[in-house]
Amino acid sequence: MKPSPFNYVNPDTIEKALNALSKHNNAKLIAGGQTLVPMMNFRLSQPELLIDISNISKLKNITEDNKYIEIGSLLTHSNAIKSNCLKKYFPIISKAISNVAHHTIRNEGTIGGSIANADPASEWPLLVTLLESFIKVQNKKKKRKILYKDFFESHFITNLRDDEIITSIIIPKIKNSYGWSFLEEAQRDGDFAVVEVATIIEIGKNNLIKKARIAIGGVDEKVIRLKKIENLLVGFNLSENLCNFTKKDIDDQINPISDNHSSIEYKKHLSFVLIKKAINTAKEQILNVEDDR
Ligand SMILES: Cc1cc2nc3c(=O)[nH]c(=O)nc-3n(C[C@H](O)[C@H](O)[C@H](O)COP(=O)(O)OP(=O)(O)OC[C@H]3O[C@@H](n4cnc5c(N)ncnc54)[C@H](O)[C@@H]3O)c2cc1C
Repeated sequence: MKPSPFNYVNPDTIEKALNALSKHNNAKLIAGGQTLVPMMNFRLSQPELLIDISNISKLKNITEDNKYIEIGSLLTHSNAIKSNCLKKYFPIISKAISNVAHHTIRNEGTIGGSIANADPASEWPLLVTLLESFIKVQNKKKKRKILYKDFFESHFITNLRDDEIITSIIIPKIKNSYGWSFLEEAQRDGDFAVVEVATIIEIGKNNLIKKARIAIGGVDEKVIRLKKIENLLVGFNLSENLCNFTKKDIDDQINPISDNHSSIEYKKHLSFVLIKKAINTAKEQILNVEDDR
């Protein structure tokens, strides 16, 4: 199918884009077009005006200070994988984003488009949730800085308003030494995840776990954090068994739905297996780094 007819503008500043957005009732921003164009081709989305923001260079930067890294919303998946700054502080980004679709899609698709789309099985929403990020948005009148848990609301639904643009994502740097892991199970290479899990385990004095983060996608209406298991891990020594929980403990915290590929029970089983593996991978990573010193 072909999209319904639309007009097109290509502003080179945020102000011009916001101006166009505020003047039209049925306008849509387009960044990489990797989600919106297929939706328009299927006529699931029929905007009368497309506002192409891909030429706004101000939205493509990565900057850092002592506390934060700020990623412009137009950063493509491919450039996120290549970024030395992101690799230095958060190697998990390169690992996770390499699982997004294929090269051609990664070359065009953006972090802003991915989180605006809010697919609960997508990699960027998983990372933004794991990394406790803020999403900076603005309309013609004001700017907002929204914490990840207030931004994602449900399947494909966010707190973003129709007249707002996501300008950047702010990730707090992690001060403690930490281990991390990203695991995903998909039907084929490049497919959306059936289940995806990411962890960060921060270490304090005497090798005791100071903070644990476990994010899981594909098993609820949005990416969720497994707070019960995270709290359980705090205070553990790395030499101990960290997976002292049952499948029921996980089942109680997730709410998967069945689809053409997998049943609810399969997703629950997969979640349990991946979470245990992810925790142990992060633990091994910390222990191996210590051995290398
Ligand atoms: C075959 C295929 C496989 C895929 N596999 C995966 C996968 O495995 N994992 C995965 O995560 N993704 C996957 N994707 C989706 C891909 O990652 C998209 O790039 C991403 O979801 C959207 O980014 P985009 O820049 O292309 O957004 P667009 O398609 O341009 O826009 C998507 C939506 O976001 C809005 N939007 C875009 N930018 C902004 C902004 N700055 N502010 C506010 N709203 C904005 C648009 O208005 C639109 O509603 C796949 C896509 C395809 C076609």
